[in-house]
Amino acid sequence: MKIAILPGDGIGPEIVAEAVRVLRALELPLEMETAPVGGAAYEAHGHPLPESTLKLAQAADAVLFGAVGDWKYDKLERPLRPEQAILGLRKHLGLFANLRPAICYPQLTHASSLKPELVAGLDILIVRELTGDIYFGQPRGRRTAPDGAFAGAPEAFDTMRYSRPEIERIAHVAFQAARKRGKKVTSVDKANVLETFQFWKDVVTEVHAQYPDVQLEHMYVDNAAMQLVKAPKAFDVIVTGNMFGDILSDEAAMLTGSIGMLPSASLDANNKGLYEPSHGSAPDIAGKGVANPLATILSAAMMLRYSLAQPEAADRIERAVQAVLAAGLRTGDIWSEGTTRVGTREMGDAVVAAITGKTITKS
Ligand code: NAD
Repeated sequence: MKIAILPGDGIGPEIVAEAVRVLRALELPLEMETAPVGGAAYEAHGHPLPESTLKLAQAADAVLFGAVGDWKYDKLERPLRPEQAILGLRKHLGLFANLRPAICYPQLTHASSLKPELVAGLDILIVRELTGDIYFGQPRGRRTAPDGAFAGAPEAFDTMRYSRPEIERIAHVAFQAARKRGKKVTSVDKANVLETFQFWKDVVTEVHAQYPDVQLEHMYVDNAAMQLVKAPKAFDVIVTGNMFGDILSDEAAMLTGSIGMLPSASLDANNKGLYEPSHGSAPDIAGKGVANPLATILSAAMMLRYSLAQPEAADRIERAVQAVLAAGLRTGDIWSEGTTRVGTREMGDAVVAAITGKTITKS
C-alpha cells in the first residue's frame, strides 16, 4: 500500500509527522514517500503543485495531506498561491466526493456552543459533491443584463447544473458509507425552488432502489440548517451538492466546537482518496509544537478505512484517540480546567502508546 505524504505549510509538517508515526506503529506494509506541496513546493520548485509531487500522488493508493497556505504568499498571482495545490490535486485525481465526519467525543462536549445533551455522542457524516454545481457551472461571468426589470444594467451570473452521472456517483458514495454506519441517508436539496435540485432528488431516489437496507429521507437545505442545530443526532449520513455541502459541513463541524479534531476525505470513483484535517495551516501557531495532531491522525484512520480496506487498523487508531482523551490529555485548543495540557509531539506519543498497548500517563 503506497501512501503519498504531502505535509505542506504552517503546522502541516508537525501534525503530519505525528500521523506518520501513528501509521508506522500499526506495523502494516505501508510504503510512505514524502513530497513538498503548497508554499513549501513553491519555495523548492517555483510551483505549489510541482510535476514530481503530482506524479507521486497519482502513483499512490492514497494521499495524506497536511495543510497549505501562509499569509506571506498572499501577494503571489493566483495560479502560484499554495491553495491552488488542493484544487489541482482534486482535479487531476478526479476527487468528486468530500466526506466530513462531525463527531463529538463525550470528553469534549463542553467545546460545543450547543447544550451538552444535544451533541454528546454526535456522529454524523456529510458527503459533499465536490466538482460540480454552481461553483463550476458554465456559462458564468459579467455582462450587461439582456432582459428583466434591470435590462441594460451591469450584472454577474453563475450557472447551477448537475448531470445524472454526477448525482448517481455521489449518491452511491453516500449509500455505501451509510451501510458502514447507521444505515440512514438524508439527501439535502432545494427541490421546491430549483430545477437542478428537483432532478437531484429524483436521481437520488432512483439510486436508492439499489440500497433497500438503507433508509432515505429528503430535506430542504433551509430546514437541514435548522435541524443541524436543533437535533443534530437525528442525522446519520447527509448527502448534498457542492454549495449546500460547503456551508452545512462547516456548520456541522462547529457543532463539535473543536476544529483541531475533524478529519476529512476526498474520494475518486475507485475509493482512492486524499485525506486531510478540516482546518488550515494555522500559521499563527506554526513551529511552536502546540498544534493538535488528532484531526490528521483521524484522517489517517479514514484513509485506512476508505482507501486501503483496513477497517480494523482504522478502529485501532480511533480507539487510541478516545483513550488519550479519556486519559485527560489535551492540546491547547481543546484544553479545559482539570485536564492535562500537552504539545503536538506528546499527543502523538500518547496515541502511539495507546496503539502499542503501553499505558498512557499524564505528564
Ligand atoms: P486555520 O484553520 O489555519 O486556523 C484558524 C484558527 O484555528 C487559528 O487560530 C489556528 O491557530 C487554529 N487552529 C487550526 N488548526 C489547529 C490545530 N490543529 N490545533 C490547534 N489550533 C488550530 O484557518 P485560517 O487562519 O483562516 O487560515 C490560515 C491559512 O490556512 C491560510 O493561508 C488559508 O488559506 C489556509 N487554509 C488551508 C486549508 C487547507 O490546506 N485545506 C484550509 C483552510 C485554510
